[in-house]
Amino acid sequence: MTEPLSEHTADVIVVGAGPAGSTTAYYLAKAGLDVLLLEKTAFPREKVCGDGLTPRATKQLVAMGIDISEEAGWLRNKGLRIIGGGVRLQLDWPDLASYPDYGLVRKRDDFDEQLARQAQKAGARLYEQCNVGAPIVDDRTGRITGVKAKLGDEKREVTFHAPLVVAADGNSTRLSLAMGLHRREDRPMGVAVRTYFTSPRHDDDYLESWLELWDRRGPQDRLLPGYGWIFGMGDGTSNVGLGILNSSSAFRELDWREVLKAWCASMPEDWGFTPDNMTTSIRGAALPMAFNRQPHYTKGLLLVGDAGGLVNPFNGEGIAYAMESGQIAADVIVQAHARATPAQRELALHNYPKILKDTYGGYYTLGRAFVKIIGNPKIMKIATQRGLTHPVLMKFTLKMLANLTDPTGGDAMDRIINGLSKVAPKA
Ligand SMILES: Cc1cc2nc3c(=O)[nH]c(=O)nc-3n(C[C@H](O)[C@H](O)[C@H](O)COP(=O)(O)OP(=O)(O)OC[C@H]3O[C@@H](n4cnc5c(N)ncnc54)[C@H](O)[C@@H]3O)c2cc1C
Repeated sequence: MTEPLSEHTADVIVVGAGPAGSTTAYYLAKAGLDVLLLEKTAFPREKVCGDGLTPRATKQLVAMGIDISEEAGWLRNKGLRIIGGGVRLQLDWPDLASYPDYGLVRKRDDFDEQLARQAQKAGARLYEQCNVGAPIVDDRTGRITGVKAKLGDEKREVTFHAPLVVAADGNSTRLSLAMGLHRREDRPMGVAVRTYFTSPRHDDDYLESWLELWDRRGPQDRLLPGYGWIFGMGDGTSNVGLGILNSSSAFRELDWREVLKAWCASMPEDWGFTPDNMTTSIRGAALPMAFNRQPHYTKGLLLVGDAGGLVNPFNGEGIAYAMESGQIAADVIVQAHARATPAQRELALHNYPKILKDTYGGYYTLGRAFVKIIGNPKIMKIATQRGLTHPVLMKFTLKMLANLTDPTGGDAMDRIINGLSKVAPKA
């Protein structure tokens, strides 16, 4: 059977309805473009994540008109609690003109669905259970002009066409790979695992980050590699997980599910992080950091979120950057769409990687240096012992790690961080 052309043709195809894809589709549709948003799964669906949202991500949700009230089920947090070197330090999110002073938590099954529905409300045409396979490429120019997909339970073969395609298909980004865009090995990569427990700690109003993980089960305490988190979900459960960077010597050596189990078994009993209270199995995924896939625009394809390796190397946060890159990509596409000639359109589209580099390039270069330094356990130990007892230094560290500064008119710390990011190479 031949398909109706208009139904499967659009101005832009967005592949993947995670935070990056739904945000891109939302802003494109708001600007009046015809957008197809193609998602392999059906909502609600599980996504392996810590579910923690900093003020950066919160700002993006506000901008998209998502109802983030407590009545709508969102749990707010005031800041970050850091535990390590025998110290427990609670730091509030900074007071800034540019970002709210609170963060949020929300399970990704529901979070991602809300964003996708918001894109749909703005006019994007969402296809769920639409598994995108090969790109359709023009033999003469090498440009992507559409995608092939399998749709629905019956896996019907469908082709979609558009002059521009956005890869928002996450860390594994089969679409980018099929267009010849491979991962840069010189960029940091993390892996993280997490699970949920029913716990009395579920309504914690701080995100909790552990710089040291101890296995206290044997006759002697044993320091485990990696960094952990405990995020209260406000729904009776806590999200507990840990991450490790490939700059660590232990990166390939260990079974991270077992490390998480060992850490949890060493926690105070009344927190309830026991196998009996575990509500889902331990699952993990990769964290692609610091622009580990480039270029972010080539031959009709733009990369957003994890597909473009946009996770912040300082703290493993990816949702805010997925949404911000989606908004930036949409702005660029809307401008390109209004240009009269193909040459003019290309000129506008090639601005996307430049804006990304201007926005994050210097900061990510600093992050890459940071990742190398903390990969050395000796340096990490000294930093934890000395740094955590120094409140001013820790306030600075929080701003640096969470990328929370005012670009203009901020305080001295903001000026130092912005200055360093400006002078660092934007690679
Ligand atoms: C264990 C863990 C904990 C984390 N914790 C946090 C945290 O607390 N806070 C934070 O900010 N970040 C966290 N991150 C990072 C965060 O999860 C990602 O950066 C974020 O999800 C990236 O969004 P995205 O839209 O780019 O990709 P994704 O969220 O991966 O979305 C990609 C979408 O594309 C769809 N898709 C894939 N292939 C296809 C295809 N072929 N056809 C159609 N659709 C397709 C997928 O089904 C999915 O819906 C964590 C990551 C991990 C692994």
